[in-house]
Amino acid sequence: LVYGEKPDIVREKSAELYEKAKQYFPGGVNSPVRAFKSVFGTPLFIEKGDGCRLWDADGNEFIDFCCSWGPLILGHNHPKIREKVIEVMQNGMSFGAPTSLETELAELIVKNNQFLEKIRFTSSGTEAVMSAIRLARGATKRDKIIKFEGCYHGHSDSLLVKAGSGLVTFGETSSAGIPKAFADDTIVVSLNDKNALKEAFSQFKDQIACVIIEPVPANNGLLLQDKDYLEYVRSICTENGALLIFDEVISGFRVGFEGAAGYYQIQPDIITYGKIIGGGLPVGAYGGSSEIMSNISPEGSVYQAGTLSGNPVAMAAGIAQLTELAKSGFYKELNNKTEEFTASIQRYAASKNYKFKVFTIGSIFWFAFTDMEKVQTSEAIDPASMDKFKSMHRELLNRGIYFGPSGYEVGFISAAHSKMDLEKAKRAIFDCLDIVF
Ligand code: PLP
Repeated sequence: LVYGEKPDIVREKSAELYEKAKQYFPGGVNSPVRAFKSVFGTPLFIEKGDGCRLWDADGNEFIDFCCSWGPLILGHNHPKIREKVIEVMQNGMSFGAPTSLETELAELIVKNNQFLEKIRFTSSGTEAVMSAIRLARGATKRDKIIKFEGCYHGHSDSLLVKAGSGLVTFGETSSAGIPKAFADDTIVVSLNDKNALKEAFSQFKDQIACVIIEPVPANNGLLLQDKDYLEYVRSICTENGALLIFDEVISGFRVGFEGAAGYYQIQPDIITYGKIIGGGLPVGAYGGSSEIMSNISPEGSVYQAGTLSGNPVAMAAGIAQLTELAKSGFYKELNNKTEEFTASIQRYAASKNYKFKVFTIGSIFWFAFTDMEKVQTSEAIDPASMDKFKSMHRELLNRGIYFGPSGYEVGFISAAHSKMDLEKAKRAIFDCLDIVF
């Protein structure tokens, strides 16, 4: 051991469980990033979460900054969510028929949200985005879509496409199994590049159904865009009769009750949600004006459905969570806490001249091993810097701090992270920075 390093946590039970899981699941997991492929060791199997804390199968305790990849803005096992879910479950799990719970959650989402009139629930973010794209294509009667390099929108075919080099590229998929014909309709441009977008629109004039963007790109680091750029994206869509989709699966109800649309005061045509609106259970949603949403079946001819869409138990969790978020001062307190936490880490790194930046918005943050003041495109991230994240991740776990197992993923702070928890985490992060640099 190098001076200052701690011994690795015990992972015997997790390792045993992982071996068994590998017999049944490809790579031993049900979602790839969980496999710890880009960090040290094998996945930790989690047994319990409470507040901001997690416990794994070996009894290791962690302060959690992954928060189930974003949904748990109130922390784990929040009593109000748990109680509401149990109450609703007493009456059955699923009916495949309307319940008042769907309307109650929809009202919470649409009320106090100037950007939406109607929504439709799905069971995941992927479904929400896939359906939003179909809606845009159906409403505009056009086929092509524009997405941005580094933005993730779930795993549906037309969205698993990335850019190659060059100003505007298309047709290069990020997954086997996607027909080239699908990928050909997805045009990928770099973020923060007005000319690339302009070029795409002039090359495919009158063929673009929509532009889809994470207004807070948080799946390839945190690539915060300038408001001016997002306004440009809005205006070029309007000029060309294309719809603008804000994928707010992460930013929705995270950077504020009205998400990124409210944060930047930009009106998209369609918004997608997931994560937070389900309170930890599987829910997604897409919405827009009554006029646009009237294209959806059974009102209109764009078909989209789901056996478990609007599932009462999932709705219950969402209602309980959003009710808390709607309370006055919720976001102010959470965002201030995050700002204090990240600013203090940034000050520490700067005082030591470490090549390290913390980017943050709302209660989302990202550790970047760079000295750039802004990182706004995926191309600006040096893949070699991920080695530092890998060492840091290991040392953080050894100090009881749990981050998502990839340096390209962001961290989340929940209302359950107390000042004392954050203080403890900060000390551990300072230690780890000293070791890594
Ligand atoms: N869109 C964004 C911005 C996301 O971050 C994600 C998932 O992380 C998705 C869509 C897909 O959501 P889900 O994993 O619920 O299918």
